[in-house]
This record gives sequence, C-alpha cells and structure tokens, in this order.
Amino acid sequence: MHFDLLTLYYLAIGTLLLSAALTLWDRQAHPQRGRELRIAAIGYVVLAAGCVLATSRNDLPYVSGALLSNVVLTSGYLVVLHAVAQMNGRSHRIASLALILGLAATWAVAGAGWKDHMWNHVSAVPIALVSAMTALEVRNSRPLQTLRSRHIFVAVSAGHALFYAARACILPLCVAQFGPEALAIAAKATMYEGVLYSVGLPMALLGLVREEAHERVLGASRTDYLTGLANRRWFFEQGGRIIRDAPAGQPISLLAFDLDHFKSINDTFGHAAGDEVLRLFAQAVQARAGADTLLARIGGEEFAALLPGCGGQHAMVAGQAIARAFKAAVAGDGRYGRLNATVSIGVSEHPFDGADLGRLLSAADRALYTAKARGRDRIELAPPLELAVAC
Ligand code: GH3
Ligand code: MG
Ligand code: MG
Repeated sequence: MHFDLLTLYYLAIGTLLLSAALTLWDRQAHPQRGRELRIAAIGYVVLAAGCVLATSRNDLPYVSGALLSNVVLTSGYLVVLHAVAQMNGRSHRIASLALILGLAATWAVAGAGWKDHMWNHVSAVPIALVSAMTALEVRNSRPLQTLRSRHIFVAVSAGHALFYAARACILPLCVAQFGPEALAIAAKATMYEGVLYSVGLPMALLGLVREEAHERVLGASRTDYLTGLANRRWFFEQGGRIIRDAPAGQPISLLAFDLDHFKSINDTFGHAAGDEVLRLFAQAVQARAGADTLLARIGGEEFAALLPGCGGQHAMVAGQAIARAFKAAVAGDGRYGRLNATVSIGVSEHPFDGADLGRLLSAADRALYTAKARGRDRIELAPPLELAVAC
C-alpha cells in the first residue's frame, strides 16, 4: 500500500476540523461540560493549524517554519490537556507557558544547523510529554473515576505519547542503522498514526462526557431530590439485590420510619418548614448509618433503612439513636422553637419476618402501625409472622 505524506496531512487536518465541529455541536447536549468541550474544540483547530504550517514549513525562512509549526502543534496538545484538566478542576497554565517558551528557545538556539535533528527527533519530546500528562490527568481524575470510557481515552493518549517517545528515542538509532529511508517511513507512520489519533481522541473525549452525563441522569433517577437519599425505586432495586446476594445466615434488618403528625407541622409552620424537617431527618439518619446501610425516602414523610449484617435487636438500638438525633436536630435548629418533631419506627428482620424485600417492608409497616397506635414517638419490632396473620 502506498501512502502520500501530504494526503495524510490533509486527512488529519480534515478530521481535526470535523472533530472540532462535532465537539462544539455536542456542547448543547452537555452544558455541564460545555466549557471543557469548547476548549477541546479549540485544541483540535490549533492542531489542524499546526498541520497546515507543517506542510508549508520549508517555504518560510531559516528555521521559522519548523519552529512555528512545532510550537503551534505543541500548543494544540496543551489546549487539549487544558480541556481535560478543567474536567478535574485543574489547570497547567504556567507549566504550559514554560514549555512553549522553552521549546521556542531550544529551536532558536539550535538554529539552522540542527534544524533536521530538531524536526525529526527533538520536536517529538514535548508532544510525548503533553500526551502522557493528558493520559495521566484522566487516569487520576476523581470525577471521571467511575467511567469505563476513561480507559479508552487513557489508551489513546498514552499510545500517542509512547509513539512520539519512540520517535524521539528509537528513531535516531534506526536512522543510524538503516539510513534516511527510515526517516521517510517514520514520517508516513507518524502521519498515519496522527490521522487515527485525530479521530480517536475526540471520540474518546465525547464518549467520556456522554457517559458522565448518563451517570448523572442515572444518579438523579435513583435519588430523592429533596433529601438527597435514595428514592423508593432505587430502594426496591438495590434492596432486592442486597437480600438476594446476602450470605446464608447473615441477618438483615429493615427500619420503616414515619414522621409523626407531619401534616400539622406543615399546617402550623408552613410547607417550607416541613421540607426542612424532612432534610433534618435525612441528615440525622445518614449521620448514623453504616457504609453498607441502604437509606431511602420511600414516601412523603416515610423513610426506610436496610441494615445488612444487623439483627432486629441491634436495629432497635440504631432506630432509637436515630429518633433521639432527629429530635435533637430539630430542637437545636432554633427556627422552630415550639416544634416537637418525633418519629415512629417499625423494625423487621430477614428471613423471620419476610423472605423478600416486599414482605420485609410489609412486616416493618405493621410494626410501624403498632407504634402509631401505641401513641407514636416509639419503636416496635414486627410481631412473629403467625401472630400477624392471625390478627
Ligand atoms: P401520622 O402521625 O399518623 O403519620 O400523621 P401525619 O400527619 O404525619 O400523616 P399524614 O399521612 O396525615 O400526613 C402526611 C403529610 O406529609 C401530608 C403531606 O402534605 C405531607 N408531605 C408529604 N410530602 C411532603 C413534602 O415533600 N414536603 C412537605 N413539606 N410535606 C409533605
Ligand atoms: Mg405517612
Ligand atoms: Mg406521618
């Protein structure tokens, strides 16, 4: 197969400009990452400009053509790095400026005598360095840690860095061994890899942003907006999984909470105060929950907690501590001086009170009704199943 070097340059320029256009278009769908996508698109345009300069570098006097195209290309990589660093809330502005100034100075000092050596080998060093930093930025990113497509981005960036590192370190040895023919092959291989990179990197970045947005929507579909706890849907999905996957013999308890006389709290203090009380309850229950506890708001003023590894008696103690913390939080808030917020709680234990989540919740609900009937502000253990069926 025969590749014409100039055609490969034109291909790379075209794909970079197309990537910039598609990236800008995607900003509308992902406004949370609009800024980062805009910066990345600018990076692709700068890279395309660097390629244009590279094709005509010999038309400019002295080393200015090669210097300019190398500096512009490196700047393009730095802008892409900046876009990725911004996703992390970071910036490499000073290091980037230092790199560009250092690169320009190296070209100026090397002069015409070292022009070919600079272009063929040394110019690859900053590109390898910045691509490696881009890969590391995404690999170590906290906000992107859970995304699977992060691996694709890291592979594309790190692969590019390795390619350019090889160009800087191994190519001089190949040229010494095989002569200038090695340079011609390396130039075409570089542009061929460049075309792949100019498609692969923008696609990987868009993949990251799309997966992140998808995760955000998924998270919102599982979360209660007011309290930030899990919602009823996620409680049933995740709770069902916890019960199914639990090792045999491991106790699991379920606490069902219902705030007492909540309607009168709304009526007396207003709906906004009611909302605040719901948030205070969520905070109180969250502060006392273990790492593996599943907490959810399953209804208006109804909450549930699934405690893997915790028997009914322990769950009773945990529930009492939550009730005390809730009372103290509302009393300590100061805004609702006369408000005496209490909660009634029902407790059930797997597998005695139910083999699945639905039955377990029904059992805890029965205990909760008992707590209400016995005067509220109390906690009750679900009665044994036969007794409950009998009544
Ligand atoms: P009980 O002690 O028997 O549980 O009485 P209650 O008043 O707490 O129960 P009831 O079911 O009569 O009233 C629940 C109230 O909760 C009615 C509803 O307006 C209120 N509520 C439900 N969701 C929200 C919410 O998101 N915010 C506010 N402020 N109130 C809510
Ligand atoms: Mg209720
Ligand atoms: Mg209630």
